[in-house]
Amino acid sequence: MQNLRKLISIVIPVFNEEGNIPLLYAELRGVLNSLWNKYDCEVIFINDGSSDASALAIKNITNQNKKVKYIEFSRNFGKEIATTAGLHFAKGDAVIMLDADLQHPPRLISQFIEKWEEGNEIVIGVRNSVRSQWLKKFGSALFYKIMNLIGDDTKIMPFATDFSLLDRKVVNEFNRFSERNRMTRGLINWLGFRRDFIYFDAPERAGGGAGYSNLKLIKLALSSFISHSLFPLKFAGYLGVLITLISGIIGFAILIGKYFLHNAFFSSFTNSAQLAILIIFLVGLILSCLGIIALYIGNIHSEVLNRPMFVVREKENIDGNF
Ligand code: UDP
Ligand code: MG
Repeated sequence: MQNLRKLISIVIPVFNEEGNIPLLYAELRGVLNSLWNKYDCEVIFINDGSSDASALAIKNITNQNKKVKYIEFSRNFGKEIATTAGLHFAKGDAVIMLDADLQHPPRLISQFIEKWEEGNEIVIGVRNSVRSQWLKKFGSALFYKIMNLIGDDTKIMPFATDFSLLDRKVVNEFNRFSERNRMTRGLINWLGFRRDFIYFDAPERAGGGAGYSNLKLIKLALSSFISHSLFPLKFAGYLGVLITLISGIIGFAILIGKYFLHNAFFSSFTNSAQLAILIIFLVGLILSCLGIIALYIGNIHSEVLNRPMFVVREKENIDGNF
């Protein structure tokens, strides 16, 4: 019976959540106990360089329960890296990522598992209402708009959270990513796979302060744009081509109109106006050249990211020897 049960891993990144950890664990234990006859489970806390007593709070739990595991970072590396580490060490047939501040209600875990058993390889929690401050709300709406406009990958769903379940296949593929500046959601999106969504109301964080300051969020957004889109890089090139074309046409028209056709309208352009158009033309040329360099840098960029070239869902008879 024991080894027939599937293993569910719960990955929880923690940054200064000393007050929330006991509350979270109490709720989590209730949920996991109710799943006990069908699923075995492990809980992995990743302490992302907390400066409060989070470590103590987690060790209190690991001492009571061997299924609760603990990883401590040497310093704060950020949530994305913390979840990455959790996914790396998780052994489950499915891995669920959960915030420690109770904004991701543990009671929904059974719904995630149900969707997974229906054949979905990724189940993503989507917030119904965002009760955060208006600046964050506006910022996140803007982020998704831009990201979906300029992103090279598949679309990201607005209000999708990191509260999600990944099948073992997806986790194995995720573990092959080697890029350092990462957004877990963006990478999971990139991977493809069959997915479904669970809509939920996110409560206010239970206690403590949000670990992400506005500045940290802006930095995360910028680095996400850069790693999921080459548009900012190519923009100079597009602009350059446009400027060169327009100023080239105007300059050419003046040249012909003024000096060959002696047209009154074109003759009214002064010498300095002609010089200005020449300069604009040259600036356009320089920007176009920057655009060409951008194409090369773009190639280097995608090579350096070193993403897997493709992602396989299933294999049959592939490593079969005769
Ligand atoms: N977190 C982390 N490292 C950080 C910041 C946050 O591991 O540098 C954890 C935090 O403890 C929580 C989750 O990531 O479990 C989400 O953080 P937060 O609630 O601050 O983000 P928000 O809910 O505003 O997205
Ligand atoms: Mg939160």
